[in-house]
Amino acid sequence: MLPAVDTIVALSTPPGRGGIGVIRLSGPASIEIARTLLCDPSFSPEPNHSLLRKVFDPDTRTLLDHALITYFQAPHSFTGEDVIEFSCHGSPVLLRSIIDMTLRLNARLADRGEFTLRAVGNGKIDLTQAEALRDLIDAQTSAALQQASRQMDGEVSHVIRPVRDRLLDLIVRLESSLEFVEDDLDPIETQQLGKDFDALFTDLSNLAKSFSAGRLLRDGIRVALLGRPNVGKSSLFNGLLRLDRAIVTELPGTTRDTLSETIDIQGIAVHLTDTAGVRQVPDPIEFLGVDRARRAVADADLTIVVFDGSEDLRDDDWNLLRDTERYPRIVVMNKNDLSSFQVDRVGNRKHSNSETVVSVSAKTEAGLDQLRAAIIKPFLNGQNLTEGLVLTNARHHDLLVRSLAEIRSSSDLLAEGSSEELILVGLHNALNYLGEILGEITTDDILARIFSTFCIGK
Ligand code: GDP
Repeated sequence: MLPAVDTIVALSTPPGRGGIGVIRLSGPASIEIARTLLCDPSFSPEPNHSLLRKVFDPDTRTLLDHALITYFQAPHSFTGEDVIEFSCHGSPVLLRSIIDMTLRLNARLADRGEFTLRAVGNGKIDLTQAEALRDLIDAQTSAALQQASRQMDGEVSHVIRPVRDRLLDLIVRLESSLEFVEDDLDPIETQQLGKDFDALFTDLSNLAKSFSAGRLLRDGIRVALLGRPNVGKSSLFNGLLRLDRAIVTELPGTTRDTLSETIDIQGIAVHLTDTAGVRQVPDPIEFLGVDRARRAVADADLTIVVFDGSEDLRDDDWNLLRDTERYPRIVVMNKNDLSSFQVDRVGNRKHSNSETVVSVSAKTEAGLDQLRAAIIKPFLNGQNLTEGLVLTNARHHDLLVRSLAEIRSSSDLLAEGSSEELILVGLHNALNYLGEILGEITTDDILARIFSTFCIGK
């Protein structure tokens, strides 16, 4: 871990105007800097108490603000160091000038996630908890938040550590047989070891499998709305959003660009993109829009192809049906409030009988709940996103998969009757991968990569 001798400072609340803005200092000079800013050389606050104080520019002694000062004494703080928080009024100019003054007093601007990195370095939390903290801040739905808070509480480590201990136990058994037994492993011991390998493998792979739900929780799904102009894409987009963000108009072709918004469907963040109408028209602005539409479809996890179910499908509609055939899609027949509506205008041109066709009215909002359910159904696959530990972190998953591969190859070697030395190589690698998840084995390089994804001031 990095030796932390300097004092870091950052605005811990989002930049911009607000009711309050919190500036956080962490490091050995925190108290001294506070004394200077309060123009009070004897300032010795009681830890974990807030005090209302006047903050001055120490050079001119001009009064800047009335702020709440909170002191957390090392090692009983988030970072494990002396921490001072200034809760000031939320003026960007004020906050910037107070931060500038702390910099003149030899504080240094914190890097992304540096407070949390120090918390990890000082053993206040482990790496998985630090990563969960970032996920908590970034959570887009209540289900993602729930998983992040469980992991912030140490659940990943609580699950991985006992498995790691079982692996260590296997290693010890093999190593002691290396030291004390002249002959090969006896068959009974080999059989038992084989069983223990399998049990370990099963437990770890169950955890690894939960990542498909975890990825869904973290990243959500990207859905593109596609259809020729005037079928009701914007109205549908608005209906799903229950907002009036997209432009709805009687004239075809006014949604020139793509519009994206995120909605929460049963805890999954669904990133919805309303594309420009897919129709080749000799208008340069619209062409750009159309091109973006095609790209949005290529990038999407699911395409919703919208048709006007109140009239016969046109050539553009049939082309669209053909062009989207190779993408995961839902067919939506819109305008089911009109008397001329027929749900099965697509007939046998669906790409399979199991193709989902949803009948809706963006106008009356009929069928929108069925559409929401249809959007997430193929991704949810009966998984439960909120019960039990769900692996949400790609780094954890990658390391688990690697350790599983090592355990599998060691297990094969054991079955083939290979030497203990050979079997042990894979097990030691697996042990290292598990240690990397927990942050017990890390390099500065890995830490820098992880913490660069944090926000400043955390
Ligand atoms: P887009 O060009 O595909 O985005 O279509 P819009 O959302 O702009 O809708 C085109 C026209 O169809 C507008 O006049 C809407 O009011 C109308 N419209 C959209 N959805 C429905 C619907 O479900 N029922 C009826 N009756 N009209 C609709």
